[in-house]
Amino acid sequence: MLSNNFDVIVLGAGAMGSAAAYQLAQEGKKVLLLEQFEIAHSRGSTHGESRIFRFAYTNLAYAELAFQCKELWRELEKFSNEKLLTILGGIDFAEDEIGKQNVLEVKNALKQLGSEFEELGFKELNKRYPQFNLSKSALAIYSPDTGVINPTQSIKVMVNSAKRLGAIVQDNEMVKEIRPSKELVEIITEKNHYKASNLIISVGGWTNKLLKYFDLELPLQVSQEQTVYFRPIRNHQLFTRENFPVWINYQGNIVYGIPSFLEPAIKVGFHHSGHYLDIIDYHQQINQEKIEQLRDYLKQYIPDLAGEDFGASTCIYTNTPDHDFLVDLLPNYPNVAIAAGFSGHGFKFSIGIGKALSDLLNDGKSSMRIEHLSIRRFLV
Ligand SMILES: Cc1cc2nc3c(=O)[nH]c(=O)nc-3n(C[C@H](O)[C@H](O)[C@H](O)COP(=O)(O)OP(=O)(O)OC[C@H]3O[C@@H](n4cnc5c(N)ncnc54)[C@H](O)[C@@H]3O)c2cc1C
Repeated sequence: MLSNNFDVIVLGAGAMGSAAAYQLAQEGKKVLLLEQFEIAHSRGSTHGESRIFRFAYTNLAYAELAFQCKELWRELEKFSNEKLLTILGGIDFAEDEIGKQNVLEVKNALKQLGSEFEELGFKELNKRYPQFNLSKSALAIYSPDTGVINPTQSIKVMVNSAKRLGAIVQDNEMVKEIRPSKELVEIITEKNHYKASNLIISVGGWTNKLLKYFDLELPLQVSQEQTVYFRPIRNHQLFTRENFPVWINYQGNIVYGIPSFLEPAIKVGFHHSGHYLDIIDYHQQINQEKIEQLRDYLKQYIPDLAGEDFGASTCIYTNTPDHDFLVDLLPNYPNVAIAAGFSGHGFKFSIGIGKALSDLLNDGKSSMRIEHLSIRRFLV
């Protein structure tokens, strides 16, 4: 029989909630993790074969946070005996002046972090990666620390690890109501009624639906985004993950690509090019036009890759106005922590955000690099 009283209840078993449950269970807390769908479902933000891991950020704070998270991913790998983070190396490149400014900021952040990088001008770039068709003005930064993590596998590993440490995980159980309190928060689901001293709200695109119980609404906008795989037309061996990097192209619409683990094919996507919607209207419908826009991009920049497309998939970004995350305690509720607004780049940090949430509830502060993620910037 399930006891209904917990130290901490975590709402949402996406990347952030699963990581928080694992970190809290590691500390010996009595944890309940509640998820409205099945574990590792595809209706939120965390599913599929790959997410980019990188220190290569324009903002040093994220580079430092990623550096801290790498250590935590490695710890989880040891605990679970599963390989999660695969380092492949990656380039950030641009041709136009604004894009190159971003690339130089990445270089600067990597330099300040003290991590390795190489600056590649057009000639070196062309020699090392002839797959790209770039103009003579192109500039790239190569980071050997860039890699890939499988989000579906990671959710399963974090949830199973949390369970192994004693956490209770209830999936297919939607939270219907929160009764806030500074002492004992009450959670009412479709099936049960629970109580806990502390609460974590990590429900991705559904955040404002639950914040209403705290009379709070954050400036979060949900967008539907899309990725698709392309097979090369020729020179297949040049597109294996041994021969082709993870890449990010800074231009008007940031474009990125990740080599597949299964065959010479690349997953490609536009960053922040989707349409806004209410999460209840999200039906995972593929936009064919976006696939053709990506093919046109490839024809110009990576012509040998503009072949057959497959495996198109939709996904949710929960965007803040500045695209920085929200990881904090709720105003007036020191026993309630929130992780939201991951704006399409949060997965790599999830293991560390889980730790930060646990630290915030324990001490009101964290050794994780989260100062720039305070909720206060959006409260008037
Ligand atoms: C196409 C795409 C590409 C991306 N690429 C990268 C990348 O390369 N690198 C990177 O670092 N990040 C990347 N991201 C971003 C990253 O995946 C997200 O930032 C991260 O997965 C967000 O996790 P989350 O836990 O906040 O949300 P989610 O994973 O959506 O989790 C929220 C969970 O809460 C549950 N929930 C909601 N309401 C309730 C309720 N009432 N009761 C119970 N449960 C509830 C939901 O069902 C869901 O499971 C990408 C995102 C997308 C969409």
